[in-house]
Amino acid sequence: MRKPLIAGNWKMNGSRADNKSLLDGILAGISAVNTAGVAVCAPYIYLPDVAARLQGSPVAWGAQNVSTEGKGAFTGEIAASMLVDFHCRYVIVGHSERRTLFGETDAVVAKKYGVVLAAGMTPILCIGETLHEREQGMMEHVVARQITAVIQMHGVTSLAKGVIAYEPVWAIGTGKTASPQQAQDAHAFIRGMIAKQDKAVAAGVVIQYGGSMNAQNAAELLAMPDIDGGLIGGASLKTEDFLTICKAANR
Ligand code: PEP
Repeated sequence: MRKPLIAGNWKMNGSRADNKSLLDGILAGISAVNTAGVAVCAPYIYLPDVAARLQGSPVAWGAQNVSTEGKGAFTGEIAASMLVDFHCRYVIVGHSERRTLFGETDAVVAKKYGVVLAAGMTPILCIGETLHEREQGMMEHVVARQITAVIQMHGVTSLAKGVIAYEPVWAIGTGKTASPQQAQDAHAFIRGMIAKQDKAVAAGVVIQYGGSMNAQNAAELLAMPDIDGGLIGGASLKTEDFLTICKAANR
């Protein structure tokens, strides 16, 4: 059975003081017997603080991006080995904000996916269509293209070691959530396309939903058979909302 994962994506938010009170609240509310996995993906600079606070707790931590390169003259970049130094378990790759605002192509995202795996961490591969693409009936085409880039570079079995986050771009940070059925349809399509290449990988891969998931709509979304948790932006910055979502993911 797949274990759902709720991961907070803090994006470029927080301060040392804010992070401390958020993590204190999460740790006070999360139960050691929480059956879903829980993680927070913090800005790079806060990872040492986050690691120190969460070490030994049921909450894992990760980064929001990584360099394609291992080391050297790449000013401003962070290598996967540096994230391993701070015991990151997860790294988000290909978030739509990286793809649209920072020009990351499918090939760059696929390379990052491999870099994270090679370093022994778990990539959270974000895929999803824009509103224009959905209106043109291209959702399936877009997500298939984004996943195929990873399969072509690393093989279908590489998906067994990662997490996929289906995040319709039109739902991210907009307050517009995909309906549970819209999300389920997309997740079933993704699982189905992977199954054409490897049934076991398809059956086992965790596919999160992301896009304005919150304390009110999480239970309904997480009840769908192919939705295995969530990648949470805005609501992951609010202790009670994040805890409510984590509890809704317990199966
Ligand atoms: C995200 O950033 O991955 C995300 C889903 O954001 P939000 O929950 O704010 O829509």
